[in-house]
Amino acid sequence: MTRVVLFDIDGTLLASGGLGRRSMEGALMVHFGTIGPTHYRYDGKTDRQIVRESMRMAGFGDAEIDAKMDVLLADYLQRLEHTVSSGEHGVRMHLGIPALLDALEARDEVVLGLLTGNVAPGASLKLRAAGLDPARFRVGAFGSDHEHRPALPAIAQQRAAAMLGRDVAGDAIVIIGDTPADVECGRGIGARAVAVATGHFTTEALAAFQPHAVVEDFTDLDTALRAICDN
Ligand SMILES: [Mg+2]
Repeated sequence: MTRVVLFDIDGTLLASGGLGRRSMEGALMVHFGTIGPTHYRYDGKTDRQIVRESMRMAGFGDAEIDAKMDVLLADYLQRLEHTVSSGEHGVRMHLGIPALLDALEARDEVVLGLLTGNVAPGASLKLRAAGLDPARFRVGAFGSDHEHRPALPAIAQQRAAAMLGRDVAGDAIVIIGDTPADVECGRGIGARAVAVATGHFTTEALAAFQPHAVVEDFTDLDTALRAICDN
């Protein structure tokens, strides 16, 4: 049976060291004159959702937010690219990821992919900064495809089916991430969720959302492969 294995990026494949947040705050300050509430959390959110929710909290209306959204995200990407190319980005891949990706790619039934709230160019920049080739991920759904994360699994499912030339069942899809939003987003299509506590949520906090499996990290390859691939 085919398995489409979709990784979240921040907190899951890598630790961005605050790179995304700094770049977003810089763009928000230029276009709205505020970074929004400092307690507002970015993890588990799509980029467009971050802009909308934080600027609503800062008192802006949707008309103004929508009018500035695309130019703000272009500014955000420029800041991200500038910092990544400077080399002083602070991004690092999580332990165990290289071996896990190699092992998954070696399995004929596995299609490796991404499911992330990052807009697609931001996803590529962060992966490259961590030393990962974005082309290894053959299918994906991004924050640039939809503002609402629960809409992303069906988009990835359709793209996987188009690429493979056959239907892909919801339960053939595995969504791997570090937040409750990752765990919950695939329920609508019956996807399997695997949670990993390498972001800001503990294994206990993630387990409360009832993923198929929850792991501390991906340093134990056998445990990781069992969680992702076993029935
Ligand atoms: Mg994440």
